[in-house]
Amino acid sequence: MEIKVYQKIITEIYSDIKNVEDLGKVANYIPELGNVSAENFGVNLTTIKNESFGIGNFEEKFSIQSISKILALTLAYKLEGEKIWQRVDVEPSGNPFNSLQQLESDNGIPRNPFINSGAIVVCDVLLSHLTNPKEEFLAFCKELSNNSSLNYSEKVAKSEKNTGFRNVALCNFIKSFGNIKNNVDEVLDFYFHICSLEMSCKELSEIFQFLADDNFRTHKGNYVITESQAKRINAIMLTCGFYDESGEFAFRVGLPGKSGVGGGIVAIHPDEFCIAVWSPKLNKKGNSYKGMLFLENFTTKTACSIF
Ligand code: GLN
Repeated sequence: MEIKVYQKIITEIYSDIKNVEDLGKVANYIPELGNVSAENFGVNLTTIKNESFGIGNFEEKFSIQSISKILALTLAYKLEGEKIWQRVDVEPSGNPFNSLQQLESDNGIPRNPFINSGAIVVCDVLLSHLTNPKEEFLAFCKELSNNSSLNYSEKVAKSEKNTGFRNVALCNFIKSFGNIKNNVDEVLDFYFHICSLEMSCKELSEIFQFLADDNFRTHKGNYVITESQAKRINAIMLTCGFYDESGEFAFRVGLPGKSGVGGGIVAIHPDEFCIAVWSPKLNKKGNSYKGMLFLENFTTKTACSIF
């Protein structure tokens, strides 16, 4: 589809949804996230031909939170290869993103890399490979997106560290099963930092091009992951990207995607585009209320779902 067509449809849906009553609430369990204005609403689509269209607050950076779990998984998968699946499974959990429940019967193997427990294990895998994890992870993100302005928010990382008791519990619980190899404080510090990464919708739709475009090479000419690995990451996004609402997202939107409690959502149409939406108010499952509504309308009006 031509960018002009996307542009027209995005503009129409944006103005419709902007005035819809938002039934969500801004996350404040990480206090710093509660300081963001709930009225922000941005959308950006970037095609694999690098045509781009954005509307609303599409250039404003926000906390990408769990969307960073895709980036952490990508780097860990690249470094660890298929062995990574011995440490984390690929099944939807059907449970909230911060749940401890299934870990007991699953012997400390998280259901998937896109819930907190799974991402904490992925962070542990990265710690075993990297000498300066925070710096090297950020450098990886910068190369992926050819964007040197990317950074963590120390404020958000600190805010989460002060209140992240569940994640502390998850990490310790998993360690008791032997599935965390490094120091718990170091794993958590790294996890809180990757969650605090800030990007705009435009930057998000650019950084995930490697999941849409089979021929993707970074600006340095490096390939990122194999086609098979990209297929698998997309598959996990489709089945596990929205915690216990992953079925609902596939049902309503029909694209591989991933949300974060900062109110961002990215979705991929393989071989076509990446689209990112941001609206901070979340529904009860922790996914952006307007973000989901927007994407549902978008794939309906463009007929651009994968189904
Ligand atoms: N940093 C958040 C947490 O660990 C990420 C959760 C999310 O975005 N779903 O709770």
